[in-house]
Amino acid sequence: MTLRNRSFIAALVALLVVSLSPIGRTDPARPMIVRVHVADAEQAGYLFEGFDETHNHSHGEIELLLWPGDLARLDALGMDYEIVIEDLYAHDQAEAARPKPMLSLPGPNRSDYRHLEDYNTEMKQLAKKNPGLVKLFALPRPSLEGRKIFGVEIASNVKETATDGRPVFYIDAIHHAREWPAAEYTMLFIHHLVESYGKDREITSLLRRMRVISIPIVNVDGFDYSRRSPAQVSLLGAGNGFEGYWRKNRRSFTGATAPVVQKNPDAYGVDPNRNYAYLWGDQQGGSSGTLFSQTYRGEAPFSEPETQNVRDIILGRNIVGDITNHTYQATVLRAGGGNAPEDDLLEAIGAKMAAILGYENNGSVGYPTTGTTDDYAYSTTGALGFTIEHGSQGFHPAYDREVGAFWKEHMEAFEVMLGVTANPKYHSVIKGRVAGGAATLTLTKTFKTPLSPGNPTGEKSFTETIKRKLETQPDGSFEWHLGPSDRPYEKKHESYTLKIDGGSGVETIQVHVERGQVLNLGTIKL
Ligand SMILES: [Zn+2]
Repeated sequence: MTLRNRSFIAALVALLVVSLSPIGRTDPARPMIVRVHVADAEQAGYLFEGFDETHNHSHGEIELLLWPGDLARLDALGMDYEIVIEDLYAHDQAEAARPKPMLSLPGPNRSDYRHLEDYNTEMKQLAKKNPGLVKLFALPRPSLEGRKIFGVEIASNVKETATDGRPVFYIDAIHHAREWPAAEYTMLFIHHLVESYGKDREITSLLRRMRVISIPIVNVDGFDYSRRSPAQVSLLGAGNGFEGYWRKNRRSFTGATAPVVQKNPDAYGVDPNRNYAYLWGDQQGGSSGTLFSQTYRGEAPFSEPETQNVRDIILGRNIVGDITNHTYQATVLRAGGGNAPEDDLLEAIGAKMAAILGYENNGSVGYPTTGTTDDYAYSTTGALGFTIEHGSQGFHPAYDREVGAFWKEHMEAFEVMLGVTANPKYHSVIKGRVAGGAATLTLTKTFKTPLSPGNPTGEKSFTETIKRKLETQPDGSFEWHLGPSDRPYEKKHESYTLKIDGGSGVETIQVHVERGQVLNLGTIKL
């Protein structure tokens, strides 16, 4: 499907306008939260595909955020539902009018959710003030609306070389624009690590043995649009409260990038957390092929800059543990949705974090999802990955009642993954010494990530390459922490290709290493 056909685009815009126009008398002019009682999996699947599901659901009940036109569609289905919040905008306004106490938190004291500029400014300042510990980086691809996307890397001697073989913990938030608490906890963790380094023995020791890479706002366009609400102009009109609940990125009908101020007024958006390659494009409701669906997966795996950026980190760096933060279901979810070959391992780590947070420890969000971040990282590199659905009070609860009340538990839960990442029993190690001194090691592996059967690209798989580099110590010794060479879902053994370039000669060997194994290659003569 091409989006460059003008009459097609015009038809889509007309369809969007119609679908967003008030249809029935009962249709809300503002966002509404309802709880629908479902009889079976088929009804549930229909709601997940066709409506905006908040994740805050339990057995037999599904909570929906209703957009223009949705109430009429729901009434037409004849399903039993009750209204939880009739006017979410008024509810949010009332919350916003409450006194906002200034809270003492890691980083600057705060009384409300950060804006995009706050995240970027704070990361820049942290890097400037702590040059040996924090490195600021811009992701290789800007957003569709032309914004730079920033992240930080945190480790002792962070700049010494990014290719020293240490294991890496990756933590991000805001694949989904409206999930403000998720980004706050991620940013607080960045501050917490910086403030604890040199003071807290455990964290100091961990940051010497490992690295942390964090992108608090993956989907910068969507987040900025949501956080700046309600002063938006869009097809939905301005100031009715819907903009704050934008979920996807800001992909437009024309596919064109827009100047930042324009904010893609014709955006339909792609759900970045359905756009990763692993099992992309399923036909069972794990993602949607409909442009307007909240789980629209995009035209192809990795069609979006947000997922391309994260993929490059997963394949290019020694990520062995990861958390992607979302809002809200008060649940720790894990890669593989409870069906991973190493689910016992993942389940036990998830249980530790869930106990600290007082959350559920579940395989899945309650229905299938495909093309997600943690599934992708685990399936391609064996990284032990989790999706945490933070909070239980909505997407934008009062700051003091959510972030202020629970931030300490979140720091502690994230620290569990620091310990997991630093512990070689949870990943693989290749070590040795190159005779003759300093050498450059390159490790590669090309493989095919399976897509879902029947996906719209018609392809069975997506070819990808892990490519990483390591500089040995001056004496030629090295210790490389990384995922096992076997991918978890592949039955056949797989190897890394390791090229050793010592200046005086080059050697290429195949290396097979399993989870928990420390493979000592001994002295390598070139
Ligand atoms: Zn989410």
